[in-house]
Amino acid sequence: MDIHEALRSRQEAVERLKRAERRWALIDALLRRLSTCLSNAADGRTAALDSVLAELRQQLREPLDKESLETLLDKLTRAARSLDESPQPTPQALTLTTEMPAAATPAARMLLMLIEQLRLDDASAPQLNSIRDAIAAAEDDSALASQAQALADLVNRYLGQLGEHRAAAERLLTLVNQQLEELARYLGSEQADHREGSDSRQELDRNLTGEIAALGSQMEQAQGVHALHQAVHARLGTIAAYLKSFREREDARERDWQARSDQMNQRIRELEHSARTMEANLRQEHELASTDPLTGLANRLVFERHMARACLERARGGAESCLLVLDIDRFKYINDNFGHAAGDRALRIVAEQLKAVLRPNDMLARYGGEEFVAVLPNTGGEAGREIAEVLRNCIESIGFRGQQRPVRITLSCGLTVLRADDTPESAFERADRALYQAKHGGRNRCEVL
Ligand code: GH3
Ligand code: MG
Ligand code: MG
Repeated sequence: MDIHEALRSRQEAVERLKRAERRWALIDALLRRLSTCLSNAADGRTAALDSVLAELRQQLREPLDKESLETLLDKLTRAARSLDESPQPTPQALTLTTEMPAAATPAARMLLMLIEQLRLDDASAPQLNSIRDAIAAAEDDSALASQAQALADLVNRYLGQLGEHRAAAERLLTLVNQQLEELARYLGSEQADHREGSDSRQELDRNLTGEIAALGSQMEQAQGVHALHQAVHARLGTIAAYLKSFREREDARERDWQARSDQMNQRIRELEHSARTMEANLRQEHELASTDPLTGLANRLVFERHMARACLERARGGAESCLLVLDIDRFKYINDNFGHAAGDRALRIVAEQLKAVLRPNDMLARYGGEEFVAVLPNTGGEAGREIAEVLRNCIESIGFRGQQRPVRITLSCGLTVLRADDTPESAFERADRALYQAKHGGRNRCEVL
């Protein structure tokens, strides 16, 4: 990622946070208005609810953070429940418009005292006043009885209305709580989510912001719980639909992403597998290209590369090392008398013995035919000659048998110490000359040049 990209992605992250912050502010304002409206509507129902609402109103006067918002949502939920559990609400005391009239009979006086005790809403006041006047003016018991019936009807109607208001307020509170909790959950996950913003996310942002603003203004204008209920219900329904369709699009996007990621993982596994196969094949090919199939020793190619490195190290002032050229004596005789297979067996045995005597960091290769080469690092002429003698002795004492008969195998060795100005060819030429001398000197011997 270059510096411009890094800057751009920072700016985008800041923009995302600003958007989230604006939405929180809108939610906050909405909550304040909702709570004020609902608490005003519910105020005076029960003493316990009144104290919760007073506390809520107090809190709303101060700035809210995320934790306070969650606590507020809890309180709203509890307030809705307490409405459900509360006993019959206690309305405001009714204000009567006239002084207590003088009553004619004891029954009329009792009815008037009962009216004094009644606590209905302001809307019932005119009716209640006219019943009271009629009672005061009643001349007989039947007139009183009909006013008592009118009073009972008024009280019943009022109680029915109270029940409806309570149920409507309760439904509204529950609905608002559910939707706000969902919004809070969405906004919480949105803040934690730092993925690239998508078109659908921006669209949701626009829709939510618009709906919440519209809801806020409708709530301010709504008259009474029913109108409020309808406005809130309609707006929250739209918000829920936006959220649902956004979630569906996000889920589809997630599934698509998952499928592509699975595909990519599968492709990576396939590539890894073919890379491993290819590597194994290359290793095998390299081994085949560098190993002598008959004896399993390194072949001439490997020896030549090794010699080039050894000469370079020597030229750079590295320690002395010896080059040995080893040739089986009169090998043709073995082939001719015991067969080519016996000759092959003899070659394998000689290779095994030479390898067993040499050190792990000595280099041994089959140069070709019945000829072997060895490079002994950190080895001077004297030590080299001793090792060559051990090798020669070892081969001489192999108890080789061809066609049930013992066959003596020997080898001759030419040895040279690498010089600082040697090339692989010049060093090999000297060692080969030393071998030639050993052959001419009678074989089964070692010469140094
Ligand atoms: P010298 O002591 O002078 O080295 O005599 P020599 O018989 O060992 O040498 P010469 O070069 O005359 O013969 C080498 C023989 O080695 C000839 C060839 O057939 C045989 N030979 C070379 N490679 C192989 C092989 O892989 N298997 C077998 N069985 N014989 C091989
Ligand atoms: Mg030979
Ligand atoms: Mg030879």
